[in-house]
Amino acid sequence: MRQESIRLPQDALWLLQTLRAAGHSAYVVGGCVRDSLLGRTPGDWDLCTAARPEETRALFAGQQLVLTGVKHGTVGVVLHGKVYEITTYRQDGAYRDHRHPDQVHFVGALADDLARRDFTINAMAYAPGEGVIDLYGGRGDLAAGVVRCVGDPAARFGEDALRILRALRFAARLGFRLDDATAAAAETACQTLQSVSAERLYTELDGLLMAPGAGDVLAQYGKILAGAVPEVLPCMGCTQPGRWHCYDVWQHTAVAVQTLDLRGQDTRGARVLCWAAFLHDIAKPQCRSVGADGAAHFRGHNQRGAVMARAILRRLKAPVYLIDGAAALVAIHDAPLPTGDAAILKSLNRYGAVFLRRLCALKCADLDAHALTPDVAARRAEVTAFAARMEELARTGCYTMRQLAVNGGDLMDAGLPAGPAVGRTLHTLLNAVMEGRVPNERGPLLEEARRLRRIP
Ligand code: ATP
Ligand code: MG
Repeated sequence: MRQESIRLPQDALWLLQTLRAAGHSAYVVGGCVRDSLLGRTPGDWDLCTAARPEETRALFAGQQLVLTGVKHGTVGVVLHGKVYEITTYRQDGAYRDHRHPDQVHFVGALADDLARRDFTINAMAYAPGEGVIDLYGGRGDLAAGVVRCVGDPAARFGEDALRILRALRFAARLGFRLDDATAAAAETACQTLQSVSAERLYTELDGLLMAPGAGDVLAQYGKILAGAVPEVLPCMGCTQPGRWHCYDVWQHTAVAVQTLDLRGQDTRGARVLCWAAFLHDIAKPQCRSVGADGAAHFRGHNQRGAVMARAILRRLKAPVYLIDGAAALVAIHDAPLPTGDAAILKSLNRYGAVFLRRLCALKCADLDAHALTPDVAARRAEVTAFAARMEELARTGCYTMRQLAVNGGDLMDAGLPAGPAVGRTLHTLLNAVMEGRVPNERGPLLEEARRLRRIP
């Protein structure tokens, strides 16, 4: 068999060697082994060891330590600003308090530690010279693109329901599918996700939605996901007859999430967009009616969807910027965009360029998940045209009071008494500028204020 070698960063290697030099069995383990074998750069390097936490602490007493996880057997060692988690071999359940094993049992202890891990692709360990320790066929599953529970899936999901969502997250991250038995057990057990804390659910859902294969996972495993977000269930099979759509609401949602173009977005923008795309049509099943022509209508689904999005995100204890950002997008995702410079400037004034950029990205993803008809193409072209003009005006236009060529001081110098009239006048002048009636220049603005008899 080919002996893979994984290139460890210097600091991880030093930790491993220090543990081993002190006589403790030790390996890098989990996500870093998985990612290395896939040729991806691991986010962090976790170690597992036979050393007890107090031994690990003593060994690295010269370094900055993070001890928040010490009661679960984890000591964090900070090297060059990065935390490396070193966790004592652990067995969950009845064996958790087993005695400190001797050297022979260390191998057994590693096996036990790997056995408690969630998926075969996450249950591999590695040490230089020994190669990859793969007791559950993780390499085979990596090659086949399969997320498979270690051991009996029903039992593993029974121990920790969060693993159901983790399976979806890894599938979305890696472009994998779930092994059939794992998928079946996940669907059977998905209601148990209701008992998982909001924080843990949110973290996994967020990781899932932000992953490159999120839409495909939604399309394929929606019923499983519904264990965590039951509101999505009525979307499945909610048909959309008429000339616009070729998918039901859920498949449409999945395609929109999958086609979302996040280029140019920062992390917050990307997060807001992923969640907004996920939730944009969440109220459609409630708002559905079918007209005399046989076409479906979803009147009010924007506003009602915003209320639902807010409730769902609150329940998940999502950050406030995400709740507000996603709900605001859902609330107007389907409203027509303004045309003409005056209206575009006013929307810049009201929403800001960051929000409008997100709105355009959401609208494009939404439209790209429609039937590919000339009508849809025309709407898509409207969004692109709006986006281009909006960017231009965001760079060159005047759409905020601060950008006006006169300020309150100028108006008062010209004779306007201090008071609320100052703000009102600036507002009127800004409107005149946005509407193209007055150029944004000092002279013409003061002239306009005089014409309006605001200043003598
Ligand atoms: P990521 O790159 O997302 O951090 P990861 O594989 O490192 O991926 P973590 O959540 O950091 O994932 O967990 C580290 C390791 O701990 C996993 O690879 C897995 O072996 C194990 N693990 C984490 N959570 C669970 C769980 N709920 N049940 C069983 N094993 C788990
Ligand atoms: Mg990790």
